[in-house]
Amino acid sequence: MLTRSLMSVSERPRVKSLIMDHRLSRPVVERFVAGNGLEDAVGAITKLNGSGIGGILDLLGEGVSDPKGASQAADEHLASIKRIEETGIDTTVTIKLTQLGLAFDKAGCIDYVRQLATEARSIGTHIEIDMEQSPFVGDTLEVYRALQADFEDIRLAVQAYLRRTPADLQTMAGLRPKIRLIKGAYSESPEVAVQKKGEIDAQFAWLTDWLLANGKDPAIGTHDGALIDHCIESAGRAGVGKEGFELQFLYGIRRDLQQRLADQGYRTRVYVPFGSAWYPYLMRRMAERPANLRFFLRALVGG
Ligand SMILES: Cc1cc2nc3c(=O)[nH]c(=O)nc-3n(C[C@H](O)[C@H](O)[C@H](O)COP(=O)(O)OP(=O)(O)OC[C@H]3O[C@@H](n4cnc5c(N)ncnc54)[C@H](O)[C@@H]3O)c2cc1C
Repeated sequence: MLTRSLMSVSERPRVKSLIMDHRLSRPVVERFVAGNGLEDAVGAITKLNGSGIGGILDLLGEGVSDPKGASQAADEHLASIKRIEETGIDTTVTIKLTQLGLAFDKAGCIDYVRQLATEARSIGTHIEIDMEQSPFVGDTLEVYRALQADFEDIRLAVQAYLRRTPADLQTMAGLRPKIRLIKGAYSESPEVAVQKKGEIDAQFAWLTDWLLANGKDPAIGTHDGALIDHCIESAGRAGVGKEGFELQFLYGIRRDLQQRLADQGYRTRVYVPFGSAWYPYLMRRMAERPANLRFFLRALVGG
């Protein structure tokens, strides 16, 4: 409920321009975003690699409205892949399908993903597909399925809060899908998504067990210590070793936990966003932890 009202206030143009232009936004942005440029993200990932942690490179931006925007985003992703090859950093590349025109040209979007997945594979890494708001879930699953025959290395994010997710995964059981499980970051109605933390966590735990039994190399994306413990215990019961799953985190959140798990020999990756289109990403990070938002708003009003 709080999340929904915060997200809707944050979409008002006046609120957006106040936050985007305010000098005090910068330090908050810097906590969650590596920087405006690709080199900032490369630097952040190089540092993570030095601590035994892999990267997930995220070019910020979503929902382009014309073919030019989609083509620009695809070019930027290609430039990122080239830079990964030049620098030799250990990172995957995550993409949002609405950034590649999903909303107005699904076939064109599939072509872009095919091109990016081919380039990523040629340098020894793979693409990950973020999951966005619920109206895009069906089409995102369709794009993922369309590419399975040629690119079973693509990792797809699925959201534990969605009521439909268990059924969606069941329909993909035959594919042994390669999934990133996350709770879900968008404001969704009770008809579409479970709202209570306890219920989301229960569904997350159930889906973790399902993925360890039926998926391929599952990635568990959460900072919730209890759910990470559940994953490790469930993997042990299922006979899946440390090499058989991955733990994923967001840049700037629970760094202590990220490092501890990497030091214990778990495969860990951190999602590293970069770019100037940071506003919606930052608002999702604020909304999922009201303490962040209170701190931020106090600074804006008082500073
Ligand atoms: C690698 C990765 C990729 C993701 N990709 C997607 C995606 O494709 N689509 C999507 O909808 N969502 C995505 N998310 C976001 C996800 O859905 C959640 O919104 C986010 O991870 C917070 O939920 P949590 O699982 O950490 O649990 P929570 O219950 O929200 O948090 C557990 C604990 O983590 C810490 N924490 C969590 N969030 C914050 C924060 N913002 N600031 C400070 N501390 C915090 C707190 O200590 C909190 O108690 C991704 C998350 C990760 C880790």
